[in-house]
Amino acid sequence: MSALTELSGGPSLPQRRRLVTDVPGPKSQELMARKQAAVAAGVGTVMPVFAARAGGGIVEDVDGNSFIDFGSGIAVTGVGNSAEAVVRRASAQLASFTHTCAMVTPYEGYVEVCEELARLTPGDHAKKSLLLNSGAEAVENAVKIARYHTKRQAVVAFDHGYHGRTNLTMALTAKSMPYKHGFGPFAPEIYRVPLAYPYRWPTGQENCAEEAAAQVIEQISKQVGAENTAAILIEPILGEGGFIVPARGFLPRIAEFAAEHGIVLIADEIQSGFCRTGQWFACEDEGIVPDLITTAKGIAGGLPLAAVTGRGEIMDAAHTGGLGGTYGGNPVACAAALGAIETMRALDLPARARRIEEIMKPRLLAMADKHPVIGDIRGRGAMLAIELVVPGTKDPDPAATAAVAAACHREGLIVLTTGTYGNVLRFLPPLVIGEDLLNEGLDILEAAWTRL
Ligand SMILES: *Cc1c(COP(=O)(O)O)cnc(C)c1O
Repeated sequence: MSALTELSGGPSLPQRRRLVTDVPGPKSQELMARKQAAVAAGVGTVMPVFAARAGGGIVEDVDGNSFIDFGSGIAVTGVGNSAEAVVRRASAQLASFTHTCAMVTPYEGYVEVCEELARLTPGDHAKKSLLLNSGAEAVENAVKIARYHTKRQAVVAFDHGYHGRTNLTMALTAKSMPYKHGFGPFAPEIYRVPLAYPYRWPTGQENCAEEAAAQVIEQISKQVGAENTAAILIEPILGEGGFIVPARGFLPRIAEFAAEHGIVLIADEIQSGFCRTGQWFACEDEGIVPDLITTAKGIAGGLPLAAVTGRGEIMDAAHTGGLGGTYGGNPVACAAALGAIETMRALDLPARARRIEEIMKPRLLAMADKHPVIGDIRGRGAMLAIELVVPGTKDPDPAATAAVAAACHREGLIVLTTGTYGNVLRFLPPLVIGEDLLNEGLDILEAAWTRL
């Protein structure tokens, strides 16, 4: 058995796609009826199949169907489900103690995760971290810290940005439906500026970085005032906004502007971080060293954990007792994170992500040549996407996107859609997925275009 299979939670589960019932099967349908009766309707369902087991590149449902996983539970299980080191370390911690509260009597695991974050995140300056439970909570705390440090209030976020569903992070998120619609009022002192979105830049891709950066700087300078701006918050590759890779040169220009004006640059790497894009963090690609970085999703192999990591002097600004939370940095989640990080190193998962791109990108580009509904192929590493448009135009085609996703689901491939216009298919396979499953998933996708 290969190290990949052995360490990735694969061994307990045959690594093959197998459909034994219609999708969804009878047991899933029964559970779905119970869900509808007991769970708030606001909690959506991408695929109405109920999970029973998962590992490697496979999710098995309660009816015995095995699906190829191109979603990783939204970029969470990069190391695989129930990865060996995650299970080993989290189980040992479960048996020792489950909670004392890091603010009451601390424990080593919390400190060790913060030490790892200092080592792994970009920049060789002195760093400190704060651990939390969810991505949204990390973003909220990054904003609290930036405001306290700068004694300024304004926070700048970008078109197409997504930062969570709590009140402050809804304000920071761009898209109304479904994230914000009906949930206002939203927090004040949030300002939205243009993003360098190459595919949709009005004067063309080649002008995108420069023109977008100039607009951002102009808007901050004239409408907000750089001296009033506490933080600029950006995803180095956008997640829910549609896997938009900002045009090269845009991020460095924004980082430079932030540094010139004492504005805290916060990189939200909650989706793009932890090896997903072929590097430990996506902002490394253009050599960006953010002042603060938020992480969550991929950090702990599926257990809820999030962090804010950043420059020591900024992280230390707030008074003692000003930051924290009952569960933040739960010991079992910390143990899981240490197991996940151990796995990322042992299997060199940044290299695995690059290998996934090497396999997927050419096949996606070949599909784009054949199918005019494909407007753009983009992303890096194992964070890749297709933007669908009405052929011959750039008009978003969310209906075709939903149809292709549904065709994949029926054939046993988990894929997710995303994007401001709902017209992006996104691919986030576990970084430990076998190459045969990866190719089989792409075969299913290829066949799906002909069903449009
Ligand atoms: C998912 C996500 C969040 C929110 O994380 P939760 O854990 O769902 O609160 C914030 N920012 C980005 C970039 C994300 O992808």
